[in-house]
Parts: sequence; structure tokens; C-alpha cells
Amino acid sequence: MPNADADDVAAAVDALADGTLPDADARVDHDEVQASLPIPSIEGFAGERSVLARCGWTDPRDPDDYANAVGFSDADADAVLDAAEGLRGRGWGDWCADEPYADLWAGVRERDGPTSVVVNAHGNPGDALLLESDPFAVLDGASAAARAVDADYLYLYASEADEAALERARDAAAARDYGVPVEVVAGPDVYRAAEPTMAIEAIEGNHRLEARLRPPGPEVEGIYGNPTVVHTARTYAHLAGAIHGDAPETRVVSVTGDVADATTVELAESDTVASATAAAGVDDFTAACVGGKFGGITTDLDVGLAPEDLDEADLGTEGVVEVLGEDRCPVAFVGQRTNVASETNCGRCVPCREGTTQLTEKLRDVYDGTYDEGGMTELMGVMESTSICAFGRDVPRTVRTAMREFDDAFEAHADGDCPSGTCAVGGTQ
Ligand code: SF4
Repeated sequence: MPNADADDVAAAVDALADGTLPDADARVDHDEVQASLPIPSIEGFAGERSVLARCGWTDPRDPDDYANAVGFSDADADAVLDAAEGLRGRGWGDWCADEPYADLWAGVRERDGPTSVVVNAHGNPGDALLLESDPFAVLDGASAAARAVDADYLYLYASEADEAALERARDAAAARDYGVPVEVVAGPDVYRAAEPTMAIEAIEGNHRLEARLRPPGPEVEGIYGNPTVVHTARTYAHLAGAIHGDAPETRVVSVTGDVADATTVELAESDTVASATAAAGVDDFTAACVGGKFGGITTDLDVGLAPEDLDEADLGTEGVVEVLGEDRCPVAFVGQRTNVASETNCGRCVPCREGTTQLTEKLRDVYDGTYDEGGMTELMGVMESTSICAFGRDVPRTVRTAMREFDDAFEAHADGDCPSGTCAVGGTQ
């Protein structure tokens, strides 16, 4: 039933219950174009759906469905660079996170050596959703990028935990000719593996993932020492929209944590974090960690989604909002987070390797009666200013914002009381 509305669906459900649904003999075959579902417009709810517009509406296994709905771009390098002008990267796995990338691409195009384009879909729910539900849009944008930088290789990279995304990526890679060889690579299921230079390490097949010193960045010395551009699936899907004349300033935001159903929505940059949590049905909460695993802790969700607004509020721009429910203790949350950081950093630089360990110990000391606010602040300043990669630079944000937002709770823990009633204070947490 093409273009079924809500009443049509309700009638079909009733007919199914009554046993009066027409059988297969009554089936009507439609031609290919008519059978493609219309791209939905959900005004007033999810902002301007553009990047996610086809997720759930076009067949992610059928390149013709994408071709009918949008059409694969054959824009040449100059046209792609024109479309990319002013667009910014999205997510911490993007080498140009929140920064324009067109000029960097123009420089890569001029460099010698085999050049690679990497789609980094590791670890972010929005990127995994795009690979799983609209892989041809991601490949449309990435293959356009490959033409823009005159690339010789294109890699789709995702976590080994995102099996559906990897399977769809492999199917989509094999479904048509993109003008460049496409390889799908699974990386280990650890947060740091999304960092752009560690993504390159994983693609090269290195078992121990360590961030690379910079400069030079991957645009100079990337995969096997050759020029490489690394962006997220969101960035390439957004670029595909721009090439086809539809790239509103939107952000893909995933709401996770203490929610009934984890949700990914697309909202205008002028919209707020609160709009994203409302879409996920969040009413009551203690706080939210905005910006990924090491985002900023806040109780004020009335913050714009534009990177500038999130930066000003000391929150992260990764596009993930983790909700802490009403029964959660923010002091325990940051202690657990720094512990994860101390156990999963790559160990390459001292500020992060030792800093996360010392920060975790200082947070444990709070439970034993010592809240060394000044010492923690000094330590976090060193970590932020001297860590090699964003992993070590971001961890302090989670602690710093929690200390600012929940100063009373930190003091109370040092005095032997957990306001939320969930921590065993006066001993080891
Ligand atoms: S900041 Fe952390 S994850 Fe990044 S290089 Fe240093 S030790 Fe490794």
C-alpha cells in the first residue's frame, strides 16, 4: 500500500485481526519509482530532518532506492569543494570537529602519495544509525570527498560492537561502483578507538591503539604515512545533502543513559539540548552529561546545540546527551567516569595516563573525608593543556562541571553524607 496514512494502517490492523486482510493474490505490483517511500517531513517535532530524513524510509540494502529518492552525486572536485565551503565537521571522531574542512581538503588534493578518505562511525549512536539505515547517503558524501581530494582509497570504520552497521556498510560497499575502492574495517569496542589518529592505527591493523603526536595531522601523515582525511558519518551525510542542495544547519543528537528508550534525533542548531531530551520523553532527572562520555555535567538543558553555545556552557559537542536519572549521584558518576578513563586511556602521554589515575584517587579521597578542590583543579588544568589528544583533554571537563554544578554534594560526601542516598560514604566507594 503506497503512501499509507495512519487511517490506512489502522484499517489494515483491524483487517488482520478480523482475518479479512487481502491475500497475496490481491497484491498490486508497483513500479520502482512509485514503490520508493516518500521522504518524511516532521515539522514541529524533530526540527529540520535532513541528514536522518531517509532513515527508516529508504531501503538501506538497495542503492536504487537512494538513487530514486536523492540520486548519487557525480559532482566533480571543484563542485564538491564549493558545496563543502563553510561546512564543519561533526563529532570527536572527526579530525575537523566543529571546524570548516574545505580548505584542509584543498591542501590534501595538492599533496603527493596515495590518499585516503576515512568514514569514522566508531562509537557514536548517530553515526552507527546512519551506516545502518542510510549507508548510501554516507557513501555518496564520502565518495564525493574522495573526488575532491583525489583519493585512492575509501575506508568505512566502525566499532566491532556495531555489527548491524558493519554488515550494512559491507553490503553497501559491494552494491555499486563508487569510483574508488571501498574497504570496511572494524575497530575494537573501546571509546578511545574513535579518536581520529587511533582510527588510523586500527585501519592499519595495529593491535595496540595509541594516539599519534601532532603536528603533522592526518592530512599530511595519515594511513601508512600518506595524506588522509578523517570525518564522521554525520559529516559525510551532511555534505551529501549540501551537494544535493539540502544542508540546513542541523545537529544529530543521541539521548542515552537513564531513558526508557535511547533516541537519536536531528534538530536545528538553534534548538536546545532540552528539545532533544523532550523527544526522548525525559521529564525528571538529576543532571545530564552533554557531549559524550567525557562531556559536561549540567542541570540546565536550555542550551543551544550550536558548537559555540555548547562551548560557552562548558559542554561537549559530540552529539550525545547522557541522562542521569533522579536516583543518581553525580559524585559517584564522575568517579566512575574517571576510573574508566584511567583504565582505558592509551597510555601514550603522562598528563592523561597519570592524571586520570590521580584524579580517580582524589575522587576516592572525597569519600574518605578529603575534598581537595584546589589540587583537583590544578591537576585538571595540566591535563587539559598538555594531553596529546582529546581523550585526556576532555576528561577534566566532566569533573570540573560536576564540581561547579554540585559543589554542595562534593562537600557533603567529604562530611560523610550522600545527598542522593546512594553512596556508601566514609569508606571506599
Ligand atoms: S590523552 Fe590519553 S588517550 Fe590521548 S594520547 Fe594521551 S594517554 Fe593516550
